[in-house]
Amino acid sequence: MRVAVVGAGAMGCLYGGLLAEAGVDVSLVDVWREHVDAINAKGLHITGVSGDIVVRVPATTNPETVGRVELVLLFVKSYDTSKAMRDSMPLIGGDTYVLTLQNGLGNLEAIAESVGLGRVLGGTTSHGSTLVGPREIRHAGVGPTVVGTLERGSRGTAEKVADTFNGAGLLTRVSDDVRGDVWGKVLVNLGINALTALTGLRNGQLLEVPELRRLMRLAVEEGMRVADADGVDLAPIDHVAHVYEVAEATAANRSSMLQDVERGRRTEIDALNGAVVGLGEKLGVETPVNRALTALVKGLEHRSSR
Ligand code: NAD
Repeated sequence: MRVAVVGAGAMGCLYGGLLAEAGVDVSLVDVWREHVDAINAKGLHITGVSGDIVVRVPATTNPETVGRVELVLLFVKSYDTSKAMRDSMPLIGGDTYVLTLQNGLGNLEAIAESVGLGRVLGGTTSHGSTLVGPREIRHAGVGPTVVGTLERGSRGTAEKVADTFNGAGLLTRVSDDVRGDVWGKVLVNLGINALTALTGLRNGQLLEVPELRRLMRLAVEEGMRVADADGVDLAPIDHVAHVYEVAEATAANRSSMLQDVERGRRTEIDALNGAVVGLGEKLGVETPVNRALTALVKGLEHRSSR
């Protein structure tokens, strides 16, 4: 399977690097010239839970030099999805599929605008990775990957992708309900990301403050009501308890949104709490907690943009 990873940051380099290490034909595509040049000159350096490896994998800023591939793995931040898809058209042929494992709502639809719903694969990842600098990433945590299709008929492609990923040690299963899976991950993000970004606390520390535990629950419950109104089949689990469990299991982690705020970078709030507020407005579901969290995170972003 010929693969192009578009958005070779923390996660793109993790998946691209481990696939290349397993012998898959992978190219990395990123707009960051210094990073691309460093990968080509010295190899991609992965440290952390995968050990300490240098992977030789070609990288480019120009997708035209890669040409058409079977699979585009899109790993830009959610606010870059539409532009990255437009930039990626030289990679797309009549039988190319585009897979997103990004966090947040709206990515599947943004990709479908360029290639049509039948060519989109979606899913989730529970791996964690940090971009340390040009050509350097740290694999911070291991977890399952879920891949599925939006339309019937392309399950075979999802199975092929899962086989390829499993062959590279990226434990992957095929799902028949990608929207439910993506929403399940969004609910976790709703409960943790904005609150850690606003307080500066690590994931597990949120649980030590009863008032924050309550806000976690309220943010998740609002999300569940919006998902329900949108016709999403959420997994039949206690999603609030699950968010507490994830915060406990990742107690020492500083969430990606906290890291973004601390580095003065844009966050993915619009695709998470902000998207739930927007969808809630359309569907007539009140979301006061997510509205407040969105506004406050926007305030933090505004402070660092000045
Ligand atoms: P990142 O910022 O490390 O990487 C994004 C990369 O995309 C950057 O290198 C950037 O230069 C590149 N990019 C931007 N626009 C581009 C374009 N038009 N064409 C090509 N490249 C472009 O982000 P990340 O942490 O890898 O996160 C990617 C997605 O994965 C996000 O949706 C995030 O929520 C999700 N995610 C991240 C983690 C994690 O641990 N980092 C875990 C699960 C999910």
